[in-house]
Parts: sequence; structure tokens; C-alpha cells
Amino acid sequence: MKELSVKQTTELLLTIAKKIQSKREILGDIDRKIGDGDHGEGMYEGFSKVETELTAKKYTTLSALFKDVGNTLIFSMGGASGVLFGSLFRGIAQSITNEHELTVQDIYSGSLAALEEIKKKGNVESGDKTMVDALSPAVLSMKTCVESGKENLLEFFQQARINAVKGVEATKKMVAKKGRAKSLGNRTLGLQDAGATSIMYIFEAMEDYCREEVEKSE
Ligand code: ADP
Ligand code: MG
Repeated sequence: MKELSVKQTTELLLTIAKKIQSKREILGDIDRKIGDGDHGEGMYEGFSKVETELTAKKYTTLSALFKDVGNTLIFSMGGASGVLFGSLFRGIAQSITNEHELTVQDIYSGSLAALEEIKKKGNVESGDKTMVDALSPAVLSMKTCVESGKENLLEFFQQARINAVKGVEATKKMVAKKGRAKSLGNRTLGLQDAGATSIMYIFEAMEDYCREEVEKSE
């Protein structure tokens, strides 16, 4: 599978929305250990609104679809992390070159731009124990895929998910340098970052959706 239509992309985004909503408890628990415990709730709120929005509207272009998801997250989640997660989808919206076919190239370009924006907006680098530590390795795997000419979306998301999982594992060995976890310093060692975990679930959902689509067509 080399491309997704607007309808399939809407379904892909709904799969993400459902996955994140189902992780409300665990994301809350993770954030409670080293943050203020609101990450599960915030993500749940944001992606519930996304689900309502995508179910109610009919989209004809990919950029309108991704832009709407990004804006819905920014306006419904509030706070810093709403803006940061919204940036990922808005970044992809801005990199769409074909409004009717979502490809690995456009997702990679958009995710790379989003990663740079998130680092700038959040004033973070890799190793600070944030969502960047899952997104950055995921984007790196996308780069490898695109540069080697691979166009298969399932493989693309699978590799991104594998790297995001490794990124989440790596956050356990990091001392938080940003956000609410920063004040806990060394006590954050051994614990994974909540935002990075959400990024991992987003890629996991994209892989799940593509696998189902491939299986349906076989
Ligand atoms: P808040 O920190 O406002 O309570 P959330 O709990 O929803 O927001 O999100 C926390 C997550 O946001 C953290 O686990 C981390 O991954 C991410 N995060 C926090 N601060 C930053 C930052 N400055 N830049 C990038 N990501 C950040
Ligand atoms: Mg929090």
C-alpha cells in the first residue's frame, strides 16, 4: 500500500483518536509519577474532540483534514502539550503535495518540520526526556525509509513505531530537563516520559490501521 485516500486518512486519524482515548488511564498514571497527572485527561479530551469533528465533517483535501486535527488539539487541550501535539498534525498539513493521496514522502516531510517546530517552541533537545525523544527517532526511521526509496506505508509506520518504542525506553534513563518533571531531577530516572508514550501510541495506531487495510485487500 503506497497511498491513502482522504477517506482512508480520516479513518487512520480516527484510529489514533480511539487509541489515545483508550490510553487515558495509563497516560495519567505515567504523568502522575513525574508530572501533574493530567496528560491522560488532556489527550483524552483533545482526541475525543477530534473524533467528534472527524465524524461530523466530510473532508475533500488532506491538508484541511490534518489542519483541523491539529487545530482541534490546540484549542481543546490547551496548555503547552496541546500546542506541541497539534504541531505534529499541522506540520503534516503544511507538507501535503498531493491533496488526495497521502504518501510516505509527505508524512516524513511534515513530521520533520513538526519535530523542528516542537523543539523550537518547547525549547527542547533530544535527551531532555520529552515527546521529542520518541518523535525524533521515529522521524529518523522515516528518513531512512524515504531515502532508500521504500514507499510501503505499513513498513514505514512499523519502523517508526519500533523506533518510537525504543525512544520511550530510552527516556527511562534520562533526567527530565523540561516541563513539570524538571523539578524532580534525578527522581525521574527509571520512569518513562508521558508525552513520548503518547507519540508511541500515535505511531502504533497508524501501523494498526495500515495492517488492517492491507489484510482487507488480500
Ligand atoms: P503539562 O506538562 O502542561 O502538564 P501534559 O501533562 O499534557 O502537559 O504533557 C506532558 C508532556 O509534555 C511531557 O511528558 C513531555 O513529553 C511534554 N513536554 C513538556 N514540556 C515540554 C517542552 N517544553 N517541549 C516538548 N515537550 C514537552
Ligand atoms: Mg501534565
